[in-house]
Amino acid sequence: MSVAQAMDVGAASLDPEQFPSCSVCGDLAWIPVYEGPVRDGAFGNIRADAVVAECVGCGVQRLDESSCHDDAVYTDAAYRELLGESVDTNGFHAEHDPLQLERLNVVNPMTLRGKVIADIGCAAGSFLDFVSGLARSVIAVEPGKPYQGSLRQRGYHTYDFTSGALDDCQGSVEHAFSFQVIEHVAEPGAFLSQISDLLAPGGRLTISTPNRSDILMSLLPEDYPPFFYRSVHRWYFCADSLSRCGRAAGLIPVETRFVHRFGVANTLRWLRERRPGGRDPLPGLDDPALDSVWRDTLAREGTADTIYMTFEKPAN
Ligand SMILES: [Zn+2]
Repeated sequence: MSVAQAMDVGAASLDPEQFPSCSVCGDLAWIPVYEGPVRDGAFGNIRADAVVAECVGCGVQRLDESSCHDDAVYTDAAYRELLGESVDTNGFHAEHDPLQLERLNVVNPMTLRGKVIADIGCAAGSFLDFVSGLARSVIAVEPGKPYQGSLRQRGYHTYDFTSGALDDCQGSVEHAFSFQVIEHVAEPGAFLSQISDLLAPGGRLTISTPNRSDILMSLLPEDYPPFFYRSVHRWYFCADSLSRCGRAAGLIPVETRFVHRFGVANTLRWLRERRPGGRDPLPGLDDPALDSVWRDTLAREGTADTIYMTFEKPAN
């Protein structure tokens, strides 16, 4: 759908039960940007007839409410099963430990030594295990019950939700992290406000989320959106809308980095096959130096698949 067509459809035609006032800025006006199937868990499963619309006030996009999964999905094994991932701690670590270098790179050169840190939506705590040796104290916020016992055994102050951590730790966290979580939550504005309350003055928050300015969104405007938009993600950000969301919670964006997690073969496979090729190489293109240039190019252009944004809480 073109922007002109979208304007013709008009914000007034959207059902306010599906698109209530914006959680970030309170605006009531939404412009549809996508109508069609969205991914429901692993590739191949779809929910038909979904609508994604963009807030006129702040530019965040959201999926219509009835196409979203209920938040209760995150408290038991259902969410990981939906994604075809492990629901036990050891299995999660096997899948996710190798992915943590990307996050450590984004933390660099900030040091966490001697700090109170928190990971909001930490799952089985892979990232925390890599940084806990430096930290003075570690707070793990994770609604998924299957992971909580192991998080406690590892000495992390463990809570279901940020609201629980606020009872004990308000204003004390010096660096909070939340990787690939904000796109799932019911209310991203309130989500960031609560994390802001957790932060000490001058404390930092590093967020990651899928980048809706991913190069494949513009290269394949017909075939990629039904994969990018998905039932488990209620919210879709670009760098501008993510920074506005932080500012609405009283946080100042201090650094934005883009990270692309795939080599050039992934993009070429999408263009050739119109489907995800994961990390499968292509003959003649399996070259780490080529992939490095490709990733760096997309990171500079802001068209990589993931946004990392660090915010600071004002000191007074
Ligand atoms: Zn808004």
